[in-house]
Amino acid sequence: MSTIQSSCAYCGVGCGVSVSSTQADWVDVDVSSLTLTGDKHHPANHGHLCAKGERLLDSLAQPNVLRYPVLRSGKPIQWDQASSLIAEKFAQTIAQYGANSVALYLSGQLLTEDYYVANKFAKGYLKTANVDTNSRLCMSSAVSSMQRAFGEDVVPGCYDDIEHAEVIVLIGANTAWTHPVLFKRILASRNANNTKLVVIDPVATATAKQADLHLAIAPGADLALFYGLLGYLADNERVNHEYITTHTDGFDAVVSHAKQLSTDLIGLAKQVGLTEQVLRQFYQLFVQHKTVLTASCQGVNQSVIGTDTTNAIINCHLALGHIGQAGCGFFSLTGQPNAMGGREVGGLATQLACHMGFSEPERELLADFWLVDTVADKKGLAAVDMFDALADGKIKAIWIMGTNPVVSLPNSNKVAKALADCPFVVVSEITPDSDTAKFADILLPAQGWSEKCGTVTNSERTISRQRGFITPKGQSKADWWAISQVAQKMGFQGFEFDSSASVFREFAALSASVKLAFPNKIFDLSGLTHLTQQQYDDLIPTQWPIASAEHIGQQGLRIFSDGGFATPTGKAQFILPAKPVTQETPNVAKHVSVLLNSGRSRDQWHTMTRTGHIASLRASIPEPVIQLHPDKLTNFSIADGDLVTICSATDEGATPFALARVVADQGIPLDMALMSMHWSKQFSLGKGVNQYLDSRVDPVSQQPGYKCQYVVLKPV
Ligand code: SF4
Repeated sequence: MSTIQSSCAYCGVGCGVSVSSTQADWVDVDVSSLTLTGDKHHPANHGHLCAKGERLLDSLAQPNVLRYPVLRSGKPIQWDQASSLIAEKFAQTIAQYGANSVALYLSGQLLTEDYYVANKFAKGYLKTANVDTNSRLCMSSAVSSMQRAFGEDVVPGCYDDIEHAEVIVLIGANTAWTHPVLFKRILASRNANNTKLVVIDPVATATAKQADLHLAIAPGADLALFYGLLGYLADNERVNHEYITTHTDGFDAVVSHAKQLSTDLIGLAKQVGLTEQVLRQFYQLFVQHKTVLTASCQGVNQSVIGTDTTNAIINCHLALGHIGQAGCGFFSLTGQPNAMGGREVGGLATQLACHMGFSEPERELLADFWLVDTVADKKGLAAVDMFDALADGKIKAIWIMGTNPVVSLPNSNKVAKALADCPFVVVSEITPDSDTAKFADILLPAQGWSEKCGTVTNSERTISRQRGFITPKGQSKADWWAISQVAQKMGFQGFEFDSSASVFREFAALSASVKLAFPNKIFDLSGLTHLTQQQYDDLIPTQWPIASAEHIGQQGLRIFSDGGFATPTGKAQFILPAKPVTQETPNVAKHVSVLLNSGRSRDQWHTMTRTGHIASLRASIPEPVIQLHPDKLTNFSIADGDLVTICSATDEGATPFALARVVADQGIPLDMALMSMHWSKQFSLGKGVNQYLDSRVDPVSQQPGYKCQYVVLKPV
């Protein structure tokens, strides 16, 4: 029996897995010889896995796997021809329409090495920052808020904070379903340490049902809730004045704003949809307990006020002096296994590699390192704007890797049309069946989770190795390799990578240069610059920053513990919201409409391209369902178990877009409906829930506000 340690493909908890084979040799290993368990030594999960993780090997039975490059006509071609065609088309488009007429749309499923090469190719050589990622849809509001408050995209805490917290607040996070292993750890800590669990969510989710206190706030009221908390903390002399004076800027303006809410707790309670008693109970937890940890997820992020809301949460923890202390502060739960790794290499259109921005010195450093005359001179288009530009004909060539925007973006019907009209679409995928793959002029066979090698970074900044254990079948290739082929065909030097280790070394070396030039940046991989192939192969899970090789294996790191921050002044910033603190306004209300909230199911992943064909995962929720409060059903003349079409409310129901079965659920607020975002034409009769949602975005983070949108339901 031989064993390989790797990491789970599904979520930002970043669990380690052990894959064992009864065969001695891993070359062409037979899948039937394999077993998979949680890695007992991985710090993220200590051997635990959730239902999806336990069934990872079942995902290898993916039907219709793509094994060679294919033209839109269905004609298979060789990689050499495919990369030549892409190089030629990208070069022609740029020559005719300029660098910003091309774009790359990436994914939190890519490994850090893939992301690094994609960013080098686009921002360094094509001279466009039109490189964005589906992580934009997931945690970019958290990123923007941490950049504003701390000066850098750095999560201050770590998973160990769970055991040190007296109170854990989960906001907009159905952790029991979306980060199950972490939730298990929270429950274990509650049993062992009597930790109080508070869940803030309009819906009585599986997580909320296990809370000591569930705040079923009005949708979009989280910003007001946390501004009120800051005022309450100040009113009750709970703020840490010494910390605020020494380590922060901007408190006075923010707290006077916050006190406008806390002076009228009855009015505030009404505004946020709670009783005054429950509101006080929640606020008192922060007054009475020494350590409070607040973790947020999509319920906060996927809002047009997501960045301001996250800053309102951070403001409270700054006022308590609780950033970087054990069991305290703010934590961002990321959705994807490598959302953070992508951010590290500049995977968002709004930043450069190693947490750099677009200032002249930062751009010069990058140009010198990559040996180019200059790099992209300004931020590129974030996801929604990128596909709008595609629809407007401003972007004329796009390369999409490992993601399915035809289902996952808001107003995705428009995305599908834009792709259909785009002169040149390249898609890297593991299957030709995804809704997006069907629009590809050239479809490239990407390596799947079991085949590819590289690194990922989880929610607590731990870098783990993903190790392929299946010999890649057919002509599937690593994404970094595919991009490098095209780059070389375009005549670019600097893409002669021979392994994922060689890519990683270059990235680490860039990080060392950045740290040297900008010492107050936190992100640092200097200690991994000289990894040999063997050391890279053997790399154990390690939290960054990694200043020297001696730090390999370090865990439990907290950042900003000394009160120094990555801002120009070295002080953290209290942030005022852009608008007066009210709550998010839904798009349009009609008397027959209902507010649609989208979420995720326990056993499915994203647009189901990996999990939709696994029978045991489909069994719990085999078809699309829409959950409604029983008292709401009569409004639409529907009954529990009926099939309904979900229609856009903006045209009073004239446009149907999704089909779902009604499930009456007392846990859903009266004027809300809840449906998971997973379903699409590939796995159901209807289109996805995002098809006709407004593509409104947060003005700071550009993250789409998927929540708080009205729809009309019609019986089938
Ligand atoms: Fe995978 Fe997330 Fe489940 Fe862990 S919690 S096994 S990383 S899906």
